[in-house]
Amino acid sequence: MEYGSVFSIFKIGVGPSSSHTLGPWIAAKKFVSLLKEIDYTSIEVCLYGSLSKTGKGHCTDIALALGLQGYNPQTIDTEKIAEIIQKNKTDNYIYVDAKKVPFIWSENILFKNRKHEGHPNTMIFIAKNGQKQVLKETFFSIGGGFIEHQGAHISKTKTQKNKIPFRIKKAADLLKYIDSTHTNISDIVLENERSQYSDDVIKSQLRLIYEIMIDCVYSGCNKEGVLPGGLNVKRRAKQINDSLLSQKEKNKEQWLEAIKKTSNKNFDTVNKWISCFSLAINEENANLGRVVTAPTNGAAGVIPAVLLYYLLFCDNSNEKGYESFLLTAAQIGFLFKQGATISAALGGCQAEIGVSSAMAAAGLTEVLGGSPNQALMAAEIAMEHHLGMTCDPIGGLVQIPCIERNAMGAMKAITASTLALTGDPLYAKVDLDSIIKTMWKTAQDMNVKYKETAMGGLAINVPINVSEC
Ligand code: SF4
Repeated sequence: MEYGSVFSIFKIGVGPSSSHTLGPWIAAKKFVSLLKEIDYTSIEVCLYGSLSKTGKGHCTDIALALGLQGYNPQTIDTEKIAEIIQKNKTDNYIYVDAKKVPFIWSENILFKNRKHEGHPNTMIFIAKNGQKQVLKETFFSIGGGFIEHQGAHISKTKTQKNKIPFRIKKAADLLKYIDSTHTNISDIVLENERSQYSDDVIKSQLRLIYEIMIDCVYSGCNKEGVLPGGLNVKRRAKQINDSLLSQKEKNKEQWLEAIKKTSNKNFDTVNKWISCFSLAINEENANLGRVVTAPTNGAAGVIPAVLLYYLLFCDNSNEKGYESFLLTAAQIGFLFKQGATISAALGGCQAEIGVSSAMAAAGLTEVLGGSPNQALMAAEIAMEHHLGMTCDPIGGLVQIPCIERNAMGAMKAITASTLALTGDPLYAKVDLDSIIKTMWKTAQDMNVKYKETAMGGLAINVPINVSEC
């Protein structure tokens, strides 16, 4: 059974997609690491399934080129990406580990437009010396920036080697541990993390994730213009932000303080802020900005929006509450990853926005003082009302319906938390494990047209000329 660290479900990376951008980027870096002893003159990458159908809109080719050149998605200056790629395309070569390699965009990255039996998101990397193939490796991007290397011996990471005190596969396991220890979900998750990392590392990493989430919201609230890709989607977060704040704050801290102090906390205002936070993150994501996968990039806006709702609008919120919120949310994400999927190519948007909403609902419920049973109930309610949600992005871009969908996921998470906090889990008819199982069965029944292929739904029924994208 896989142990999932909080820091693997919340990955710092670059938009717009965790499975189609971050995963391929990481796979490309891995492939380069395997080339060290190999004498090669060229590299070719073949993309299959959903990666070939929506990879262009999801910037898979850009991610592969950056990964092959050794850029790190956590640290790359995102403002420089366009310039790097433009230079690559003009030069027709790239540097791979300081070696100059010919690289013609249309010849070295091939969108195969057919499925591969291995996985809906398959990448095959081939290194050649002249015409002779000298290395061929297959990777699967399995969602949330996680990758699998076909046929590779799975080396035990530090997290797998050390003893994990609480082995959790299902919500029922989690509840068993909670009953025996009389603790919260976040306490259980923290103990598991402590078996791998020091308290200082855990705290500083949680802080970093929180800061990057908020940086992304702040950045998105201060940018105007049209998003790239050809759909001409206009950014909206800044407009909402400016309509709610009378003056421009100088920095992120002042901006947060100004929102917190706002005297107007009626439903309409709070709803506008939650929408604004979600849109801001996903506009940044669509613009290849720095985001935290939560549990994916397409759904990266739900958790930060709900977290900010707690910190800025809930009475008696605790500034450090983000730690328990993120720990709890991560555990819910892993329950879905283990029992179902967090990949839209396997399960549609229920696996992205649905899971992020369930994660946020549980996190919010715990920090608002709900019992562990209520937190799990909130996660269940949030997913119950995302079941069957398809992934049909127009033009294969992570923009429509994705950006607005994050605002909807955030609101459903808050509603789910409210219902759980005012309800009694003893009387709940559906438990979290049942909904995870149902979500997975629904995913298996879903037509491939609705699994991040842009072959159905909005992607084909909205009269927008996709060739413009
Ligand atoms: S529709 Fe949902 S799952 Fe599909 S790309 Fe958009 S956010 Fe991701």
